[in-house]
Amino acid sequence: MEGGFSIFRRNIQPPRWLDLILRSIKFLLLAFFLYSIFFAMLPEQVTAFIYSDYNKIADVRLLDFFLNLSGRPLVIIGLLVLLSLGLRNPFCRFLCPYGALLGLISLFSPVKATRNKGACVSCGVCNQVCPSYIPVMSRERVHSEECIGCLRCVSHCRAEGALAMKLTGRKVTVNGVVFAMLVVLFFWGGTMIGKMGGHWHTAITAAEYGRLLGR
Ligand code: SF4
Ligand code: SF4
Repeated sequence: MEGGFSIFRRNIQPPRWLDLILRSIKFLLLAFFLYSIFFAMLPEQVTAFIYSDYNKIADVRLLDFFLNLSGRPLVIIGLLVLLSLGLRNPFCRFLCPYGALLGLISLFSPVKATRNKGACVSCGVCNQVCPSYIPVMSRERVHSEECIGCLRCVSHCRAEGALAMKLTGRKVTVNGVVFAMLVVLFFWGGTMIGKMGGHWHTAITAAEYGRLLGR
């Protein structure tokens, strides 16, 4: 949700202390879910939830939720839309526990935005365009759980060789297309490995879908 930036060409940046407090919400939510899964629930309860009717059609329920918004959910979505007019990506930045998890995983990524001090002309454009407010201009390599790998800093940098996505070691540059393919491979590859290893059990027949959806 970055509509506000598209319309007004500017966003409000909360003071650092407030930004830190707000950003901690998504990590607290993630901690709550991890605690619930690994400590508060018994393994058989987790298994029962995974194979429950509710979980089987969770995606469909989510689609249904957005298609038939009303009442309190509508108010909450409306508030988020309003917030996104002033703040950049407020849901992803402050509230999304999945985003928090991916951010922590991304810290281990061997590919990161890397600045070449010798070629950088300190124009500050990378700082301005970064949707996560990362001060790229003062970093040699962006190690941040807030980096979403959008490549905006790289694509907006006009100084030849100043900023690129680079592999650990900083010698090999990964261009945008290859980087996008690696991201797709990461997510798609996980599913494929699960299927090949016989650990992917999501085969739900059309008849069962119909039964669960009451059709
Ligand atoms: S946009 Fe490029 S040249 Fe400008 S400060 Fe960032 S890295 Fe340096
Ligand atoms: S890749 Fe995107 S999120 Fe990461 S530092 Fe660059 S502009 Fe910011």
